[in-house]
Amino acid sequence: MLVFLNVYSATTTRQAIYHGKAATLQDKAQLVTSSFSGMEALNAENINQVITVLGDLNVSRLVITDGEGRALYDSLTQRPAVGQFVLLREVTEALAGQDVFYCSYAGGQLLSQAAAPIMLYGNPIGCVYIADVDRDQGGVIQALESNIMRISFGVEAVLVVFSVLFALNTSRKMRKIILSMQNAREGEYSRKLQVHGTDEYAALAKEFNKLTDRLQISEQAQRQFVSDASHELKTPLASIKLLSDSILQNEMDADTMREFVADIGSEADRLTRLAQKLLAISRAESVKPEHEVVDLAQTIGKVYKMLVSLADEREIRLTCAMDKGCTVMTVEDDMYQIIFNLVENAIKYNNDGGLVYVCLRRQEDDVVVTVEDTGVGVPEDAVPHIFERFYRVDKARSRQAGGSGLGLSIVHELVQRNYGEISVEPREQGGTCFTVRFPRFDVEVEP
Ligand code: ADP
Repeated sequence: MLVFLNVYSATTTRQAIYHGKAATLQDKAQLVTSSFSGMEALNAENINQVITVLGDLNVSRLVITDGEGRALYDSLTQRPAVGQFVLLREVTEALAGQDVFYCSYAGGQLLSQAAAPIMLYGNPIGCVYIADVDRDQGGVIQALESNIMRISFGVEAVLVVFSVLFALNTSRKMRKIILSMQNAREGEYSRKLQVHGTDEYAALAKEFNKLTDRLQISEQAQRQFVSDASHELKTPLASIKLLSDSILQNEMDADTMREFVADIGSEADRLTRLAQKLLAISRAESVKPEHEVVDLAQTIGKVYKMLVSLADEREIRLTCAMDKGCTVMTVEDDMYQIIFNLVENAIKYNNDGGLVYVCLRRQEDDVVVTVEDTGVGVPEDAVPHIFERFYRVDKARSRQAGGSGLGLSIVHELVQRNYGEISVEPREQGGTCFTVRFPRFDVEVEP
């Protein structure tokens, strides 16, 4: 701001000097031309008369020309131009009838030139040319110009210093970010970027730290998943190995052998179920779902058909109550998997002769599915964990029931990706109640 004020004041001072000079010289030129008014012609005699009357005009040079630009008078004592044509722009323009003034500054001197026509009956019969060299004013302008030069140089120097510092600071920050990216690429997430201030680099560093946090969490979860999955696969495989070794190494009667082979078969079934669940998880994570209008009553009907025989085996009564028009814009396979897993669990963790009650209701803008059972129930301390992968409340019971600890985690994932909500609560009379809620999608019915 201060710099601009300085430059502005220097420029206006220079303008003021030029204007002052113009006024003075033009006044003097006018004074000379008016002294010739009324004279019929210009000649050495009347010019000398006028010059004598006017006295010293205090200018560097005064020239009076005739109508063709030839000098009739020149105040220069050394090599005056009298008798010669004065080839100056100012003279030519004045002879064309104009009052002119030019000012130029060079080498510490201010050169001002003014010219005015001497008119007779509206025509120029000559002109007055005045030139003045002013060293004092030139000195003022020189001081102003060197002042501006110094200021510009100072500003440029400051700008250069700032630009260099800024560039160094920027490249230092960029190097840090690149180094952290290289570390993250190598799997080293612990080195966080320091976040200072609120500029773009701080925002970038913040985002980068969040990204590496997420990568770290997902990498850990993936590692945990792989280790849990291999652990789950190892157990039935070890049983199969043990059983087959026993058959090969021991003499045994046909009935025992049949029993061992049946055990191998059920371990193989468990492996198949586990593989199916792992596939369901990977599908839920990767496949882009296609949404369609799904009537949940039909989905529950399909699940009922699939699981009623499993319930019958243990004399568990599977009943359903459903409202009409419970339609949802969703993925049919996801809905089937959610309801299937919940109903299957309600049977698996039920007591023989128990009850499973599936209910489908319209509630305000939602569709609500509840799956209640009269089974063993979920202990209070286990509730926060039952949706975690491979979590089982009672490992032995779950294993015996053919569980893998993956069913509810799949349900949770699918509910979330279909914009639903799931909750679990114990029933007063014993057993558990799972509630799933989805936004309803009403289909217009033709009248
Ligand atoms: P699993 O394949 O072992 O059934 P889930 O993820 O489906 O795995 O369930 C996790 C755990 O939650 C089960 O091991 C079981 O202990 C408990 N659980 C799930 N549903 C019920 C239920 N309806 N009643 C009692 N416990 C349940």
